[in-house]
Amino acid sequence: NSKKHGKNTYSFYSTHFDSFSKYRLSMRTSLRRALRNQEFYLEYQPKFSLADKKMVGVEALIRWDNNDQPMSPSEFIAEAESNGMIIPISQWVLEQVCRDIAQWKCDGNCCCPVSINVTPRYFQHGNLVDDLQSLIDKYGICSSCIEIEITEQAFISDIDNAVARLQAINDMGIKISIDDFGTGYSSFNYLMKLPVQKLKIDNSFIRSLEESEIQHSLVAEIIKIAHIFGLSVIAEGVENENIMDLLTSYDCDQAQGFWLSMPVPASQFFQEYLAA
Ligand code: C2E
Ligand code: MG
Ligand code: MG
Ligand code: MG
Repeated sequence: NSKKHGKNTYSFYSTHFDSFSKYRLSMRTSLRRALRNQEFYLEYQPKFSLADKKMVGVEALIRWDNNDQPMSPSEFIAEAESNGMIIPISQWVLEQVCRDIAQWKCDGNCCCPVSINVTPRYFQHGNLVDDLQSLIDKYGICSSCIEIEITEQAFISDIDNAVARLQAINDMGIKISIDDFGTGYSSFNYLMKLPVQKLKIDNSFIRSLEESEIQHSLVAEIIKIAHIFGLSVIAEGVENENIMDLLTSYDCDQAQGFWLSMPVPASQFFQEYLAA
């Protein structure tokens, strides 16, 4: 009897493990196929200066057009991060952004910096610096047209190495933002050591800004301290005018969010913001 119970237990875990690893494996296959079949595309979400409400930059956000089962980038990027597909996917994003920038320029319009999200794995184990340089050369764009957004998880394991990499990116003329600030370690102590230019306050803080005085003070203090460190501050997830006015009163530099503009396809972004 106990033997039978043991066997059932074993087969339960075994089945569980199999379905989990099958999912992982099928995700890797799907992502590889998606890349080959050109199922990925980019949307662009503009960023605005709060002082004069002008568009000052834009973030590239990946989308997966897999009609049978829609999946958010948070989900498939996390999956790609753990199965290795993040390297070729990140390279695809980088190349598509450079292609779009070159195209926008070809039409005789000046561009605004496009920021690209970089995951810890691509930052630590990919050839980010070389990939950036070779694509900038290939498409003949200026390096200041590109910016990098990176989360704090990319630094904590090896800060010295991270500083060297960030410095190399800075030396190319590419600015760096800390994305999702407030959700990680958020220590101003190590931020001081990093060659970064911008803090992007996570949208969880921004969306709850109206909820309490504590949220107000928290965001206002983050902005103050960031400015002391010489960093510029952008708020993500601005969903209404009241939040935008609050951020303006805290001296926040830039804002991004559905209230200002949804992420839109490249052609629409070009039409609405770049084509004069
Ligand atoms: P993120 O870099 O923090 O991007 C901001 C997310 O907030 C985007 O979600 C954007 O669409 C969403 N957002 C913008 N304004 C608002 C707003 O007013 N309210 C709310 N609730 N949300 C807003 P999205 O596009 O689903 O991307 C989610 C995450 O997936 C990104 O977070 C980023 O971590 C990752 N991701 C997206 N595209 C890429 C990419 O090309 N490469 C990499 N490595 N990661 C990417
Ligand atoms: Mg981002
Ligand atoms: Mg973010
Ligand atoms: Mg975020």
